[in-house]
Amino acid sequence: MTLIIDCHGHYTVLPKAHDAWREAQKAAFKAGKPAPAYPEISDDEIRETVEANQLRLVKERGADLTIFSPRASAMAPHVGDQSVAVPWAQACNNLIARVVDLFPETFVGVCMLPQSPEADMSSSIDELERCVTELGFVGCNLNPDPGGGHFQSPPLTDRFWYPFYEAMVKLDVPAMIHVSGSCNPAMHATGGYYLAADTVAFMQLLEGDLFADFPNLRFIIPHGGGAVPYHWGRYRGLADMLKKPNLDQHLMNNIFFDTCVYHQPGIDLLADVIDNKNILFGSEMVGAVRGIDPTTGFYFDDTKRYVDALDISEAERHAIFEGNARRVFPRLDARLKERCA
Ligand SMILES: [Zn+2]
Repeated sequence: MTLIIDCHGHYTVLPKAHDAWREAQKAAFKAGKPAPAYPEISDDEIRETVEANQLRLVKERGADLTIFSPRASAMAPHVGDQSVAVPWAQACNNLIARVVDLFPETFVGVCMLPQSPEADMSSSIDELERCVTELGFVGCNLNPDPGGGHFQSPPLTDRFWYPFYEAMVKLDVPAMIHVSGSCNPAMHATGGYYLAADTVAFMQLLEGDLFADFPNLRFIIPHGGGAVPYHWGRYRGLADMLKKPNLDQHLMNNIFFDTCVYHQPGIDLLADVIDNKNILFGSEMVGAVRGIDPTTGFYFDDTKRYVDALDISEAERHAIFEGNARRVFPRLDARLKERCA
């Protein structure tokens, strides 16, 4: 039996009081006042939002377990400064922990980080440690561009990020490279910015030698790896020109792509070009693309059916649905083994 593990789910329909508090927090920062206290939110309110949305879709579409993180577009690290980012990240992560506590069979937590354009990574390290050691989370979403669409942060291979990578390695958790909303009007968030950031991140890693310094560091590049699989020949050629080892050795022991591509030919290409050991099943529910594909009659983000339809062996399918996720998220693997014991 294969466990269907969705490595990419966001809590996008939230209790109203949580969103209202965020607005109040932003207004208070603008006015130079302290933010109001975070509101009481009942278990029932959380249950309602999850049951009507994520849980319903997970059940309908046949996933067993979702690796669940805060709504990506609302991470908005460019808003305010770190004094705003830290309580916001804590509030969002605490809410994920409550969802996991209410539905432990279905969800496992991944945290957002209190990144801020002017800040170093020390608060993010603290929050990662809190989420992993106290809340039981198994990974994080790392934003390569906390400025929100201007790409002014150093590349992911820069030493700026190293203290954070050391914390990731020590805790043995991976990061999904994930930007937030775009505040650059030239870039649509989910159609332009997300895919651009995925592609840019991969090329940063190709140009550097990060995994020589951190052989156990693991990144998931979401949205099918941006443009990378489609342009695989270009990247192999660039690795050659830049005198890097071939991509299998240089990057592909450490980088993984999800299946959030939203049509069959795209998934076919992904599975054809990229070793199946580097592909993790994901849907990015609920959010990025919400409609029904008129050519198939199914939701675009109903990604399990594309993987089901791949012309691959059952062992490969098992790897994409379960095995790879358990390898990339060892803390999840340990949890699942406990469950079976
Ligand atoms: Zn996402």
